[in-house]
Amino acid sequence: MMRRLDRETVDRIAAGEVVTRPARVVVELLENALDAGAERVEIEVAGDGTERIRVVDDGRGMSESEASMAVERHTTSKLPGGDLTDVDTLGFRGEALASIADVARLTLTTNDDGARGTRVRVDGDDVAVDSAGRGQGTTVEVADLFYNRPARKESLAAPATEFERISERVAAYALLRPEVAIVLEHDDRQVFATAGSGDPVDAALAVYGREVARESTTIDAETTLSVGDEATARIRGLLAYPSVTRAASDHVRLAVNGRPVSVPSLRRTVERGYGSLLPGDRYPIAALDVSLPPSAVDQNVHPTKETVALRAADDVAAALEDAVSDALETADLRRSAEVAMDLEAALDPVEASSALGDATFIGRFRDLYLLCEAGEELLVIDQHAAHERINYERLRDAVASSGVPSAALDPPVTKSLSPGEVAAVERHAAELERLGFDCDPFGGGMVRIRAVPAPLGRVADADALETAVSALRDGDDADRRDERLAELACHPSLKAGDDLSAEDAAALVDRLGACDQPFACPHGRPTVLALDEAHLAGGFDRHPRRG
Ligand code: ADP
Ligand code: MG
Repeated sequence: MMRRLDRETVDRIAAGEVVTRPARVVVELLENALDAGAERVEIEVAGDGTERIRVVDDGRGMSESEASMAVERHTTSKLPGGDLTDVDTLGFRGEALASIADVARLTLTTNDDGARGTRVRVDGDDVAVDSAGRGQGTTVEVADLFYNRPARKESLAAPATEFERISERVAAYALLRPEVAIVLEHDDRQVFATAGSGDPVDAALAVYGREVARESTTIDAETTLSVGDEATARIRGLLAYPSVTRAASDHVRLAVNGRPVSVPSLRRTVERGYGSLLPGDRYPIAALDVSLPPSAVDQNVHPTKETVALRAADDVAAALEDAVSDALETADLRRSAEVAMDLEAALDPVEASSALGDATFIGRFRDLYLLCEAGEELLVIDQHAAHERINYERLRDAVASSGVPSAALDPPVTKSLSPGEVAAVERHAAELERLGFDCDPFGGGMVRIRAVPAPLGRVADADALETAVSALRDGDDADRRDERLAELACHPSLKAGDDLSAEDAAALVDRLGACDQPFACPHGRPTVLALDEAHLAGGFDRHPRRG
């Protein structure tokens, strides 16, 4: 017999869709706390989260009548005009608390700064409302999650995995909302606690530790979008330098108007912003919030609001990529060399002002490192990495425009190539010439090479032709081409032990300074380390010279 389900049954079925696993409970409660204007939110989790989840906030709290309504379905205080288009809170569907209460025992203790607080207990169909002592704010405790949904409980992963999901979600809020102090505890052990200072680098220090914090910079950029009139996008947050990367892509976190969202295309946009600074198989660490006018966002496209639809998505992507690459370009990517001098390696942001422009070459160490004086710092430049960067940018520009200088091979070198490679040499003859090659196939898979690129008075070897040819064969894909050019840039680059006059060394430093991205080689490794005088002075127990 066909039967129409009553409203309540439909809602109960829906509850299972909202609350799929413990991490969702945590996210809903955390979002409620943030919506309530909390400055501090403590989250305690026992086991995999089905045992107990407790979220304590110091937000605005609720009155007795609000508290008893809050646990009913489709009650929300967040749509005053009933208009979905200008929601600026994280919640608005009014179903989280009710859905959680359907699948767990829920206790809500809250006070909106009244004389006394209220406690609401929901256990199955029983709802008990009492008064309770509590200062302003709200505590929600969720126990025995899925006690009445054995199949759901069965389907959960191992406790460590479920907690990992919780911790991952909480970390995203902690990094993207650095103005709120967020504390996460697991089985009475503190996992992390952010300071709530508003500085995302402080949040990164709490979540990731010192190395990442020290190698991070903040970003704050604004750009005009072509939606409606005068729409601007503001991009704010944290970027870790390419010196600290991760093997997986889930450390790029994005929020739209303060709500962490998962939009893979935007995540890839951030990766593109790092461009050639990133080693091929590594991913960056970033936490960026994109603020857009509410009219440019539809957050209602996904039941858990984890994804959003953006108007002018292409504009937003372009703005994001530019903001990331600009920030990495202007920020100083020099690594402060770790010096084993029993000094707290300073968390000081490295000054962006001291570029390579004022660096004076003072000597060489082990025929590999160029030492330069720059203001109060000693710079150590890896000549091979620096040369690769210079060659790479020259080759890249050459492919785009005029051509690189070349050096004649006398006598010419003959190489044997595969039929595919020979075909590519013929097809890309013009580009190869622009790259500095002079070569022609003369049958039987043989190619005569008369000249090779010489980007900086150095001469590539004949093998570079094969690298160039494969770069061009992959040329349809711009990213792949950059990778190949980076390999090609290696060919004529200085190696350790190569002779270099003081003049050449100084010229190399100048040329490096003129690069768009002087502080990393095209494979993403650093080119320059900086050691500031204070470190040395500290090591020698001296006070640094001033002025
Ligand atoms: P929504 O967040 O979509 O409105 P919820 O079911 O999550 O729906 O919450 C219902 C209502 O309960 C909210 O609109 C809010 O008024 C109130 N509320 C929930 N949690 C808190 C909290 N931590 N502090 C203050 N008010 C809260
Ligand atoms: Mg909510």
